[in-house]
Amino acid sequence: MTPVYDRVALIGLGLIASSMFWAMKRAGVAREVTGYARSQETRDTARRIGLCDRVCDSVIEAVQDADLVVLCVPVGAMGAVAAEISPHLKPGATVSDVGSVKKSVIETVRPHLPKGVSFVGAHPMAGTEHSGPESGFASLFDNRWCLIVPDGAPEDATQKLEQFWQALGANCERMEVEHHDLVCAVVSHIPHLIAYTMVGVADDLSRVSDQEVIKYSAAGFRDFTRIAASDPTMWRDVFMTNKDATLEILGRFTEELFALQRAIRTGDGDELFEYFTRTRAIRRGIIEAGQDTEAPDFGRVKIHE
Ligand code: NAP
Repeated sequence: MTPVYDRVALIGLGLIASSMFWAMKRAGVAREVTGYARSQETRDTARRIGLCDRVCDSVIEAVQDADLVVLCVPVGAMGAVAAEISPHLKPGATVSDVGSVKKSVIETVRPHLPKGVSFVGAHPMAGTEHSGPESGFASLFDNRWCLIVPDGAPEDATQKLEQFWQALGANCERMEVEHHDLVCAVVSHIPHLIAYTMVGVADDLSRVSDQEVIKYSAAGFRDFTRIAASDPTMWRDVFMTNKDATLEILGRFTEELFALQRAIRTGDGDELFEYFTRTRAIRRGIIEAGQDTEAPDFGRVKIHE
């Protein structure tokens, strides 16, 4: 295909950036992709596995002449990166991100950018519990949503970024900043918090041995452990920066949990049955929308291979 951008710079070379690179190469979306990560170790690994056409030893070199710069670092680090690169951005360039939270990224990144450089937020709704430059794969974004948060960015820059993500396999949908952060609190942030908590509870419960937790984990707990293995830095930053939305959803969650607790204590089987019937329908909706399959393990193992 004709490249969407001539030169793309990826800042941060972890799961998302490496998947973007392989997907870009698969589709021929950019003529040249430069990459930068803060540690020598990650840069060495990237060079060894051929991640990026050019791995740079300075972030300034990586962004020079780039038409699109994508910030692929934890949300809490984006402002500092934007401050460092901003004097070196090409006039007319677009800066974007892949952060799991949008309000805080827009507030910390945009003020640093020079006139004539647009910021268009993006959030690919795809990931795994793995991190680092070797964890990426080209099909990560296939048929997944990429939420685009223009928040007043120029229409041409926004459309080009949508074209870019579509070429990477994703379906794009535009969203308002605050709505994005609320939706993600519901579908991603709080489920991760619950998984972290449940695994923590099992760890604390000395009457249940480690061996039993591992042996019987297929009974639902296994998926929690997979989610709770996600990168601690990334998830710390998500909760530090999406405070309002996550506290709002967590409040509702605890209310529901108390209601179910009462139903169990009072032996109200009808209430439990009705609740579980309602939630089952949501699962069916997800399968019908093509966001999961009926297969017991959703082929997750296959995806990593
Ligand atoms: P990752 O695999 O852990 O990679 C993170 C990268 O950021 C690494 O290259 C790391 O550099 C760099 N980095 C970490 N802290 C930094 C700092 N303080 N300053 C500068 N660079 C720093 O992370 P990822 O999963 O690709 O996530 C990247 C972004 O994508 C995050 O904003 C996350 O919210 C978002 N996201 C993640 C997922 C997911 O499921 N993982 C899904 C959607 C969006 P070194 O390697 O040199 O340490």
